[in-house]
Amino acid sequence: MNQASTAGPASGAIDMFARTRERFFIPDGVRYFDGNSLGLMPKAVQLNASNVITHEWGHGLIHSWHDAEWRTLPQRTGAKIAALIGAQPQQVIACDSTSVNLFKVLVAAVRLRSGRKTIVTDADAFPTDLYIVDQVAKLFGLTVVAVPASQMFQRLGRDVAAVVLTHVDYRSAEIYDMQTYTQAAHAAGALIVWDLSHTAGGVPCDLDGCEADFAVGCGYKYLNGGPGAPAYLYAAARHVAACQQPLAGWFGHAKPFDFAQQYRPAEGTDRFLCGTNPVLGLSVLSLALDLFDDVSLDDIRATSRRLTQTFIDLVDAQLAPHGFDVASPRDAARRGSHVSLRHPQGYGVMQELAKRRFIGDFRTPDYMRFGFAPLYNTGEEVAELVGAIDDIMTTHAWDQAAYRQRRDFT
Ligand SMILES: *Cc1c(COP(=O)(O)O)cnc(C)c1O
Repeated sequence: MNQASTAGPASGAIDMFARTRERFFIPDGVRYFDGNSLGLMPKAVQLNASNVITHEWGHGLIHSWHDAEWRTLPQRTGAKIAALIGAQPQQVIACDSTSVNLFKVLVAAVRLRSGRKTIVTDADAFPTDLYIVDQVAKLFGLTVVAVPASQMFQRLGRDVAAVVLTHVDYRSAEIYDMQTYTQAAHAAGALIVWDLSHTAGGVPCDLDGCEADFAVGCGYKYLNGGPGAPAYLYAAARHVAACQQPLAGWFGHAKPFDFAQQYRPAEGTDRFLCGTNPVLGLSVLSLALDLFDDVSLDDIRATSRRLTQTFIDLVDAQLAPHGFDVASPRDAARRGSHVSLRHPQGYGVMQELAKRRFIGDFRTPDYMRFGFAPLYNTGEEVAELVGAIDDIMTTHAWDQAAYRQRRDFT
């Protein structure tokens, strides 16, 4: 990972991302704007996953825990992710799902602040985060204060054990300043847990620099780890030794193969592991992360900003007469790597776009969400997308009986 010093995307960076785009499999005719939901498949995964299955599993069998280093996949994969989120490597581990990881770190956090009675969270958070926060509160007899992120500051009193906040909002793409919120939580004596699901791989952040306490995030979005890829968690080194996580399984034990009757947590972040890790999923995620190897975080950010800004400028120029609202921040500094539009006919428009092989997604009630993945999306694709939406509105192609029936998965 190189830290480039330039702020804008130099032409070198544009060439670089043309090369990274080549490393993804893109189905013929598809323009893909859903990398914030499920990243494209890296060609290296296609080539090498069969090696993992045939050689490591098929031939190596149980010896591969050692010979193919399956044992250390959570740590090695975590170290690759750490480089994308401003963390020293030993603090990040890849395992389980984001929801499960949130449960583990949030319980650890409230135990570190026992005696305090409140968890503060964003009322508009991704629902799974809200569900997990509610359950942790129930288990520990705590109260949940769910308010819009901007109103959290007034609620941060001495009763607050933990704050749970998503860094890049899944609907609007608004970025909540990591330093500001972390400092505010700490000023109240609380700990903060960041959800980086829409951050890692699209927007750089600096967990260590901001002195964040805990973080969790997804492997299958901008990290391109494949459907249901393992997620990851971060626990600041200064807390780990005192952390008691609730899903204390044998993989988090100091000596799993001693088969001791008594649980003794591993020293480092390994204590956050629970059961046997999904080796195939971790292998794929680990391969996919290598695509970030020669890319600088500054170039990722500059390219993401360029793509989202191109989209917003074209929407303003071509789509405003059709009644589209930009539901993402217009200030690029406060905007993540996707842009949401709102329109009463948004559902039909997305269905017709999909028929034309432009893939984005829809979030209720009327958000049309388009992800711009710096590693593979291009400015030309963005212009084609806006042209297609313009055509769909002009020809009323959104207005079809088949598009009035909503499907479960969008
Ligand atoms: C995608 C996403 C999740 C998904 O959680 P899983 O448990 O991995 O399914 C959680 N939180 C946020 C903010 C997300 O965007």
